[in-house]
Amino acid sequence: MSKTITGERRRAIVEALKARDGGECWLCCRVMRKGKATIEHLLARSLGGTYDLENLVLCCGGCNRQLSNRPVADKWKMRRKIHHKAQEERLAQAARDRRKSLGIRPKAIRLKAADDSLASSKTRSCGALPAEAK
Ligand SMILES: [Zn+2]
Repeated sequence: MSKTITGERRRAIVEALKARDGGECWLCCRVMRKGKATIEHLLARSLGGTYDLENLVLCCGGCNRQLSNRPVADKWKMRRKIHHKAQEERLAQAARDRRKSLGIRPKAIRLKAADDSLASSKTRSCGALPAEAK
C-alpha cells in the first residue's frame, strides 16, 4: 500500500483535480466547500491504486466513505445511478423555471406535456461517462 500523502503534495493534487474536474464531488455532483474535498482512489490503495491523477477524483467525505474499497466498476455504476438522478432533477427544475418565467400555471395538461418531454430525455447519458461496463 502506498503511503498517505499530506501537506503541499496533497494540496497540489487537489488543485490539479479541481482544475480537471471542477469543484463538484465525483459521486454526488454536489459542489464541495473549500477544504472539504477528499482524494478518492478509483482503484483503492489497498488494491494497489496509486496517486497518479488518472486514478484520482475528488469526493466529499461521505461519498469517499461510501466508495471505500469497492471495485472500480461498482464505483462507476454508483456514479451513473446518482448522475442520472441528478440530471433528471435538474431537467425537472429547468422545466419548472421555464413554466414560471413564461407565466404558465401548472395545469394538469401542461404538466403532462412537460413530463412527456422529460421522459424522452431520460435515456440520454450524462456527459463524459464511459460505455456501460457489464
Ligand atoms: Zn459526494
